[in-house]
Amino acid sequence: MNKKETDMVDVIKCPHCQYLMGYDDYIEVGDMSGEFEMDCEKCQKPFKIDFCSMFYFTTEKLKEDK
Ligand SMILES: [Zn+2]
Repeated sequence: MNKKETDMVDVIKCPHCQYLMGYDDYIEVGDMSGEFEMDCEKCQKPFKIDFCSMFYFTTEKLKEDK
């Protein structure tokens, strides 16, 4: 993913004041995607959040018994 081409970040950023907030308090464990509305913790203005979670995979050969 090219960071320059997206506003996606792994924290919640207020679109009004750019304040960064953790998402732990807002997203239920197990939620893969969705949307919700909240008020900014700093400027108190409401905004909408769309979120989706991603998995990252790495694979590795198992050691072969010889
Ligand atoms: Zn704000």
